[in-house]
This record gives sequence, structure tokens and C-alpha cells, in this order.
Amino acid sequence: MQKKTKKKEIPSAYIFCASLEKVASHTSAACRVLQLLLRIRAVQVSTIGAIKRAAWFAQTNAFNMFLLHVLGNAEVFSASNVIERANRNLGRMIGGPRIMFGDVAVEGGFQSGVPCTSRDCLWPKSKNGKVYVPVVVSKKFSSRETEAIRCALDSFHSKTCVRFMKRSSERDYIDITPKEGCWSYIGRTTGRQELSLQRGACLHRPTIQHELLHALGFHHEHSRSDRDNHVHVLYRNIMPGAEGQFQKVRTNNQVSPYDYSSVMHYGRADFSRNGEPTIIPVHDGSIPIGRATQMSLSDVLRVNRLYCQ
Ligand SMILES: [Zn+2]
Repeated sequence: MQKKTKKKEIPSAYIFCASLEKVASHTSAACRVLQLLLRIRAVQVSTIGAIKRAAWFAQTNAFNMFLLHVLGNAEVFSASNVIERANRNLGRMIGGPRIMFGDVAVEGGFQSGVPCTSRDCLWPKSKNGKVYVPVVVSKKFSSRETEAIRCALDSFHSKTCVRFMKRSSERDYIDITPKEGCWSYIGRTTGRQELSLQRGACLHRPTIQHELLHALGFHHEHSRSDRDNHVHVLYRNIMPGAEGQFQKVRTNNQVSPYDYSSVMHYGRADFSRNGEPTIIPVHDGSIPIGRATQMSLSDVLRVNRLYCQ
């Protein structure tokens, strides 16, 4: 039996990268690095089996760690991409809270899916005008991860009246803990409320800011009550069972314009069943969405309007 010549079977890095892109929806920057690596080590990924293994790898959180290691810069990951990858299997989570809208924890079933529509779920304002939010950061995080969380917490301090502070004995507080996936409750739920940042998956500033904004009471930008004026949701491309992620919510928009660059906006192909867009801007389909690597001006404006005025 004639032995096949492996060199002829080597797929181009571009094909490999395209297959990964379809599966993982990762950034073009990450893709370019992968292409470079694959050119250098093409022989090792020259078989179809390797392609399949790589596609599987792209769906794992180890892939996040790999990309972070290669790129050395967490900021290339938008909150949208990171959350979508980290929470891919959250439906199978046992013993945790119910997760809706991709990364929103709810208690008591789907009827609770429109939380924080009253002031009861806001964090109280002190007499000096600051809003102190007690926080506990789990000791399970490494020092580097703890520092990343601290940076994200501090990013609110310079731009808003919100002050995340170490909890002493306050009744209501956020417990930042490394559970499975990136998720948070919406607003203050009273007592201890968890905010999960999975190690090796969610410890990026925009993702942490995203979950903290949920904990302050904010919902996804594409779930806004007026979203249909700004984006089309393409239900035919949404993976079965994920339709609820695109449900509209009766939000208080703080008289702020719809913001495609919000760190609370999901990406064009998030929760896609076929790699095709699930959400596109109404007036100009080419506008980038879900690519925020930090809180936008509107995100900050909304925090200030809700808490600081
Ligand atoms: Zn979210």
C-alpha cells in the first residue's frame, strides 16, 4: 500500500484559521497569530484529524488560555467573545443559578427574567454622594487575577461615584468567585450575591466590567426596550435553545443613545448555529458591534445618570 505524501495534504493556515473562526468566533488579531504559528509548524497540523482536534480545542477554555499566552494581551478580547466562549456549556451546569441572556443569573425561574426595574435593586447612595458597593474577592484567584479584578473595580472609581470596597460586615455584598462561566445577577439582590469569573476564561477587564455593570443593575445593550430601532435579530441563525438570549427587556435607558460600542453589547455572531450573524445594525450593517474592550462613554454616562445625579 502506497504511503501518502504528507506535504501534499498540508492545509493552508487560512483554511485552518477559517474553520477555527467559524467555531470560536475569535478575533482577527488572534487569527493572524495562529496563521503565523501554523506556517511555522504546519507539519504538525497537516492532517484532517488535527484540524478536528484543533476545532475541538477552539471550543474549550484552554483555547482562551492558549490565545492569552500567545498574544500576551488580554485587551484584545471583547467581553462579548470571552463570555460567549466561557458560557458555551453553562446550560449543563448543575447546582448553580439559572442563567438567562447568556450570562445573567436569576433565581426562581424565568418569571424573574426581567429584574431590576425598580429602585429596590440599586445600591444605596451615601450622604457624601458616593455609592459604596461592598465586595469580597475569593482567595481562590491568583495574585495576578486578583490584580486584574482590582483594576476593573478601580476603573469605575475614576469615572463614576461608584466605589467598590472591601466588605467588612455589610449585609449586601458582591462575592466575586471563580465558578463555571462568567455571570452575574442584575442589580442588588440583597445578602450575598455571587458574581462568577471563571479562571482562565473571564479574567479580562472588559468582561469583569461587563459583569460588574450587571451587578449595578444594567442589562445588555441589545436587550434594550428600543433595540428594534437599532439592530435586527436574525432568529433563523440562532442556535436552538439560545433564542432567549435575544429577548427584549423593559429597560431604563437613562435617555442615552443606543450604543453599538457598549461593553454590554454582544457580538455579531454570538450564539450563532451556523456562523452567520445573529444580530446586525439596522442602518449600517458594517458598524462594528460587540467589540468593546472597555466601558464606552455611554456605559459610564449611564452609571452616572443612574447613581450619581
Ligand atoms: Zn452580560
